[in-house]
Amino acid sequence: MAQDPHNHSQKNKPVEQMLTEQGIFVTAQRRIIAEALFARNQHITADQLLGLVNKNSAKVSKATIYNTLGLFADKGLVREIHINASKTFYDSNASRHHHFYNVDTGDLIDMKERLVPLFLQSDLPDGTVMETADVVVRVRNQTL
Ligand SMILES: [Zn+2]
Repeated sequence: MAQDPHNHSQKNKPVEQMLTEQGIFVTAQRRIIAEALFARNQHITADQLLGLVNKNSAKVSKATIYNTLGLFADKGLVREIHINASKTFYDSNASRHHHFYNVDTGDLIDMKERLVPLFLQSDLPDGTVMETADVVVRVRNQTL
């Protein structure tokens, strides 16, 4: 089966399988969180996810959300995108890609371009090699 090498979305895989494959013990709360998180490709903050899973009834505490997102990030299931000290997005698409952050709207948007900009590779400090590059370009709305 042909697969887009850049699309590592696991949304068609049962969440139990996703978690188990990463060595994560499946609990009821982790399952609820994973189902909400991986229902679609999204950039979501811990508070937004908390609101989403507790929409109809309080199921999961804030501490559990944070702990579980930290665990999923450690295991490579989600990517953490740090915008500033008080804002971190969790990206349900853990494949390597870059982002625009709109400072006016607070939206995080995927870049279509997935390659690391060449100038970064040619400007590395002496004696180093590139490990990873997570580019976040801050944009604002154009005012005419
Ligand atoms: Zn993204």
